[in-house]
Amino acid sequence: MSDNMKTCDHAAGCGGHNHEQNEQNEQEKLRCCLDRIQHKIIVMSGKGGVGKSTVAVNLAVALSMAGKRVGLLDVDIHGPSIPVMLNLTGEQLAMAGEKMQPVSIGTLKVMSIGFLLRDSDEAVIWRGPMKMGVIRQFLTDVEWGDLDYLVIDLPPGTGDESLSICQTVENADGAIVVTTPQEVSAADVRKSVDFCLKLDLPVLGIVENMSGFVCPKCGEVTEIFNSGAGQAIADKFGLRLLGKIPLDPLVCAAGDSGKPLIYHYSKTAVAKAFETVIAPILALSEAVNSQPNNNKENKNMKIAIPLADGKLCMHFGHCEQFALIDVNVDTQRVTASELVTPPPHEPGLLPKWLGEKGVTQIIAGGMGERAQQLFASQHINVVTGAPAEEPEKLVADFLSGTLVTGENACDH
Ligand code: ADP
Repeated sequence: MSDNMKTCDHAAGCGGHNHEQNEQNEQEKLRCCLDRIQHKIIVMSGKGGVGKSTVAVNLAVALSMAGKRVGLLDVDIHGPSIPVMLNLTGEQLAMAGEKMQPVSIGTLKVMSIGFLLRDSDEAVIWRGPMKMGVIRQFLTDVEWGDLDYLVIDLPPGTGDESLSICQTVENADGAIVVTTPQEVSAADVRKSVDFCLKLDLPVLGIVENMSGFVCPKCGEVTEIFNSGAGQAIADKFGLRLLGKIPLDPLVCAAGDSGKPLIYHYSKTAVAKAFETVIAPILALSEAVNSQPNNNKENKNMKIAIPLADGKLCMHFGHCEQFALIDVNVDTQRVTASELVTPPPHEPGLLPKWLGEKGVTQIIAGGMGERAQQLFASQHINVVTGAPAEEPEKLVADFLSGTLVTGENACDH
């Protein structure tokens, strides 16, 4: 997939031996680094403690699991929690020439203010210019290399630090605003949206976190805050609700023990909720990749849904037909749809067949792990646990972030 990545055409500025002080060279250096990152996603929240870092970590890990080259930049100066959430506390930063090497977990590259602190209280005594310098350095003086995604975990709120970071990261794809479902959160979301508007930064959508409580004993979900407030907030500001993540003790335990939920507990309902949130972000690169001429202006996604009797078929490999639905990612509109009959069942055949048809996303009831891996190798993203509904409804729910997914119905 790297053929559509931009390569740096300012190589001299990137690995240069001198640290020119003048602003023009610094700008050039910054542009050079940012040019090598295809998608920049900013995760923000109106206040702290709402799950912003949790969303950033799980998003970065999920994108990495989907085969993307991902960087995770933690610039939450007031509480850099990402080293803990990824079990990276105490990691030492290595230098490669004049550049800092991010800490790697598999293919995921991580950089956090936390790696520079001797103890967690140190951040609060940093003065403004010092913080700003570090933020800029984290973009220009870190060896990120070519990335499909850089996920940036912003400090909470819409203060000077957040402003400075967003102004530094030119051409970001947009911001994900994390909030909690109470009505009072509307004020925080409004501040975040105003902030993005001022900066011409698109809002990719809202994540309603801590939405309902999942009982660890019976799995029942209790709405302890206002149900539907996230959707109401999204409607009020004309935004997209990317999804709702329940309040689940497992999320907290996973974060505290440094085991990203989306990887270590991928079969749980709460991981499925994260998948729904993440799918549209993953679609940003799938849409670009699916273009034969890599035309970024015309982003399309082709969604495949296995059918039996006109509704989603739970047994993926034995469906009667596939609905293939083309969607323009920017307008969220269906641009074409057709029904196709798959070739006779044969293990491993469908990923190649659907790949050749240009499919970038599958909505399935159930699918075995091996098949999911085969689809990932074709750069096709899979959502499992979808209900037996008509394809048009599933696509509409998927695009609006309201697709409710349950257990993977067929795990062989
Ligand atoms: P922020 O970055 O907004 O300050 P964090 O992501 O650090 O918030 O989350 C704050 C705390 O809440 C962490 O202990 C985290 O594990 C916990 N948490 C976040 N989301 C959930 C959730 N959906 N269920 C349970 N605990 C959560």
